[in-house]
Amino acid sequence: MGKVNVIAIDGPAGSGKSTVAKRLAKRLGFLYIDTGAMYRALTLKAINEGVDFMDEKALIELSRKTDIELKDEGGSLRVYLDKKEVSEPIRTMQVTGKVKYVASIGGVRENMVKLQRSLGACSSGAVLEGRDIGTVVFPDALHKFYLDASFKTRAKRRFDELKEKGFSITLEEVEKDVRDRDASDKKRSIGPLKKAEDARVIDTTDMTVDEVVEYILKKINEKK
Ligand code: C5P
Repeated sequence: MGKVNVIAIDGPAGSGKSTVAKRLAKRLGFLYIDTGAMYRALTLKAINEGVDFMDEKALIELSRKTDIELKDEGGSLRVYLDKKEVSEPIRTMQVTGKVKYVASIGGVRENMVKLQRSLGACSSGAVLEGRDIGTVVFPDALHKFYLDASFKTRAKRRFDELKEKGFSITLEEVEKDVRDRDASDKKRSIGPLKKAEDARVIDTTDMTVDEVVEYILKKINEKK
C-alpha cells in the first residue's frame, strides 16, 4: 500500500505541536486534526455524566456512543461533543487532569483511532497532531515529525497559554500537570507517546513557531 497524504506531528505537551500543526495545515490547505481535543471531549463528557474514571468498561461504552466532530470555522478549530460546542470547556485544568484515565484505556483508543483514521483518509491531505499518530494512527504517513523542547520551556508555554485564556493558575501547578502527563503518556502500554522510527525530531526550545513551520515545509519539499 502507498503512503497516505498525512503529516503526522507527535510530541509531549508544550512542544509546540498545536500551533505548528494548525499553521502548517493552513499553509498547505490541508485538514487540521487535533486528536488531543478528541480525548479531551470524551473526558468532559465523562465528567458531566459522573462516570467513574476507574470504570474502564463504562468509559469504553461512553466512547462508543459519543459523537465528536472537529470543524474549521473561519480558520479556527471548533470542537463539538454530541452536537454541542465544547471548544473552551475541554481546555480546563479539570479536564486536563483527568484525560490520562481515558487515554490509557485500549478500548477507548481503538474507537478514537478509528475516527481519526476515517477523518484523515477522507481528506485530500491532513495534518494530524497527537502522541501516537506516526506510530499507530498513520504509520504509513508520508511525513512524520516529533516535536520536543526542554521541560521548563514546555511548562512555561502551557502556563502562558492558560494565562492568556484567563485561567487563574500558578507556574508550579502547570509544571506538575506537564510532569504527570509526560509520565502517563509515556508509560501507557497502548499508543504511548513515542517517536516513530522514521520520524524527524525537532527540538523547538529555541525556535519560533515560524521557524518550525518553515523547517517542516522545507523538509516536505525536499522529499517531493
Ligand atoms: O494534545 P493535548 O495536550 O491537548 O492532549 C491531551 C491529552 O490527550 C494528552 O495528555 C494525552 O494523554 C491524550 N492524547 C493521547 N493521544 C493522542 C492525543 C492526545 O493519548 N493522540
